[in-house]
Amino acid sequence: MKLSSPMEIWEYLPGTNCEECGEKTCLAFASLLKERKKKLEQCPPIFKPEYAEKGKKLAELLAPEVSEVEIGVGARARKIGGEDIMHRHELTFFNRTALAYDVWDTMEEEELRERVRKITNWSKFYVGEFLRLDAVAIRSVSGDAKTFAGCVKDVAEETDLPLVLCSFDAKVMEEGLKEVSDRNPLIYAADETNWEEILEIVRTYNVPVTLFSSDLDMLNSLALTFSSAGVEDIVLDPGTYPTGEGLADTFSRFVRLRRAGIVDGNKGVAYPLIAVPMTAWMVHGEGAGNALEASYWEAIIADLFIIKYADIMILHSMEPHSLIPERTLVANVYTDPRRPVSVDPGLREIGNPADDSPLFVTTNFALTYYTVESDLSSNKIDSYLMVVDTDGIGVESAVAGGQLTAEAIKETLESYEVEKTVKHKAIVIPGLAARLSGETEDATGWNVLVGPRDSGRIPGWMDKNWPPETVS
Ligand code: SF4
Repeated sequence: MKLSSPMEIWEYLPGTNCEECGEKTCLAFASLLKERKKKLEQCPPIFKPEYAEKGKKLAELLAPEVSEVEIGVGARARKIGGEDIMHRHELTFFNRTALAYDVWDTMEEEELRERVRKITNWSKFYVGEFLRLDAVAIRSVSGDAKTFAGCVKDVAEETDLPLVLCSFDAKVMEEGLKEVSDRNPLIYAADETNWEEILEIVRTYNVPVTLFSSDLDMLNSLALTFSSAGVEDIVLDPGTYPTGEGLADTFSRFVRLRRAGIVDGNKGVAYPLIAVPMTAWMVHGEGAGNALEASYWEAIIADLFIIKYADIMILHSMEPHSLIPERTLVANVYTDPRRPVSVDPGLREIGNPADDSPLFVTTNFALTYYTVESDLSSNKIDSYLMVVDTDGIGVESAVAGGQLTAEAIKETLESYEVEKTVKHKAIVIPGLAARLSGETEDATGWNVLVGPRDSGRIPGWMDKNWPPETVS
């Protein structure tokens, strides 16, 4: 994106404040365009003849520096690329690195289907969301077109995840692609030896394509050839070499490509990048004792390129010691640094509370909320947990910063009509918010109890303090 502030964007908008976009002013809409929370198409007037020229220019200026490519279809389709910055602290990264796990066409059918189901269904709860995997990469190992096509068909029957079809043999690729061309798979890959045949396939089936070369001039040349032929959905693979100087050179190529695309504005290489950490298995092998080392190195390489700058990667090891750090790192690197991780405010039920169950207060900072929620539920304390909107800030800072106040607690009690849910008028505030106790009683008219500073101590606190006389 070439525009750095909402005011700069606003200058291209009609400026009529007509509210057709759902916002009260064009400036408010401009701010959401900057955040990518709205799309230009949501401003119908911009397409009127009198604004069309400015609108066209604005669309160009809003386009991300690195192009965005979508793979797959339906609910689990994934966008990759679309980034504007080199470093997360400059704004935020937008599209998480997509993790594709491999299967291969010499697997026994039942083993194949089982692994595809495992990739499709894997999930892990982490800070308010279920982390999942993103794609299945199908490798041609047999080199036989029919075998590959059969494997692709079996995989497609088992999963709705996006697919990456892997073969440098154009005939093998086309047979596989025929099975799933309506699934918008990413094909991997065209290189300097097969590019003409692969280009023909890409134009016939209109699917995204990976271009491969560890020679960046050659990669640039391939990208120009494909883009000149009208292919827009391009992914670049500058090669992933898993050891020694090869790994150092790989790192350097990823950084140079991303810098060329974002800092130097070289549109010829401003495409999403793919890394292949599973090349670690080519060095360390699957023999006895080597699998652990291979998966260890695969995880190290994956973590390196999650940070710099792979938009999608192909992986093999699904062992927890490899997969969990990779997936967790993706979640962390792609968290928006401008916003604390938060949950929605509201009134939550923990267990099976009744109208005389305790009512606890916490903030909507995700880490605080999930800690308190977990301490209550793991100790089987049937209760209500009232989550106050503190802009995603934790208890101590929110008290100091004025986000958690007696007034905020009162407003939350009223917004969620808590009085209709519990028959008592006793509320337990966190120990770290003890100083709000008197003000909260005055503001709400409720009996305020000060809970422990650490929610892990709630069971012991309950033994001594619940129910208070006003409830019993
Ligand atoms: S629809 Fe367009 S012109 Fe109307 S308020 Fe929104 S941004 Fe402004």
